[in-house]
Parts: sequence; C-alpha cells; structure tokens
Amino acid sequence: MANIKVHDKEFEPYLTDDQLQSRIKAMAEAINTDYAGKKPLFIAILNGSFMFASDLFKYITIDAEICFIKLASYKGTKSTGHVITAIGLDTDIIDRHVLILEDIVDTGKTLSEFLPQFQHQQPLSLKIAALLHKPDAMVYPIKIDYLGFSIPNKFVVGYGLDYDGLGRNIKEIYQLVG
Ligand code: 5GP
Repeated sequence: MANIKVHDKEFEPYLTDDQLQSRIKAMAEAINTDYAGKKPLFIAILNGSFMFASDLFKYITIDAEICFIKLASYKGTKSTGHVITAIGLDTDIIDRHVLILEDIVDTGKTLSEFLPQFQHQQPLSLKIAALLHKPDAMVYPIKIDYLGFSIPNKFVVGYGLDYDGLGRNIKEIYQLVG
C-alpha cells in the first residue's frame, strides 16, 4: 500500500483491512461469549465509530440492540466548566447491560467526563469497547474492556476516523508521517 495525502498531510499505511477485520471479529467473539443471554445495548459514539460499530455488529450472533449517539460539549458555568451531553439516546439504559463503542481513546478525557453521566442512569453494567487506544497519550485513565489495537501516539485517519472532515471512507487505517 502506498502513502496517501489527506488535505495537506501525508499518511502511511498502518493497519490493513484484513488486520482490522480479524481483530474486530475476535472482539465480537469475546463479546458474544461474555454477553450471552444478557441482551446488551451497544451505544456507538458518532461520528468516528460508525464503521467499527457496523462491522463489529455484523459479527454479533447473540440478541443485542444498538443505538448511536453524538457527544456534544459546551461551556457550562464557571463551577461546572466543560460539560458533555449525549444527543440521540432514546433508549432507557436503566437495568441494561451497556457496552459503549468508541473509535479511539486518546487522552481519555471524553469518556472520563461522560461515563459518570451514564453510571448515574443505573445500567446493570457499563463497559467499553474501543478499536484503538494510545496508551502514551492517556491523561484520564479509562478501563477499556475490549480493545482492538494499542497504537503509538501519532495521528491516524481512515476506517471512520477523519482528518478535518476527510478520510473517513478509507478502508484501512493510515498514520501521519513524521
Ligand atoms: P480523548 O477524549 O480520548 O482525548 O479523544 C477521543 C476523541 O478524539 C476520539 O473519539 C476521536 O474523535 C479523537 N481522536 C483522538 N485521536 C485521534 C486520531 O489519531 N485520529 C483521529 N482522526 N481522531 C482522533
């Protein structure tokens, strides 16, 4: 595979379609085993996770539901600071086994701010499946229960992930050169 250009930046091949699919299939198999009979609710976080969620869900063979949310952040009052809310969550999560699907956990800030709000709604369990994780960038420790790949602290695009709006449609994952 050759390098590609997205906007003004050059990216090199990092994870192939085959690598992504076989890893996601293995994640789904673990989830099928762990959640058998629990009718889990998958909550995929848009935009970045749409491809990962779609492929993962195709490998799920147990009864399961999926919904998609968007996280919006806005400045609250001085005392609350930065607030993150979920848009589009139309399913009750009380007494459900919830599995969050995230494209990439970088600093961990997004999930660490948002998870307490989910916990507050009293799901039976709350776990995280992330396709990518940058351990070296982690500032807010998050426990990832199902992880695709640990990757270096370099910007990546493709497979749902964008660089300034572009690159989401690429089948593979590419890493910024330099
Ligand atoms: P965190 O709150 O964990 O720092 O950031 C998570 C979000 O930042 C991800 O859901 C993703 O939208 C974005 N992000 C972090 N690293 C990358 C990256 O390497 N490439 C792209 N395209 N987005 C990233």
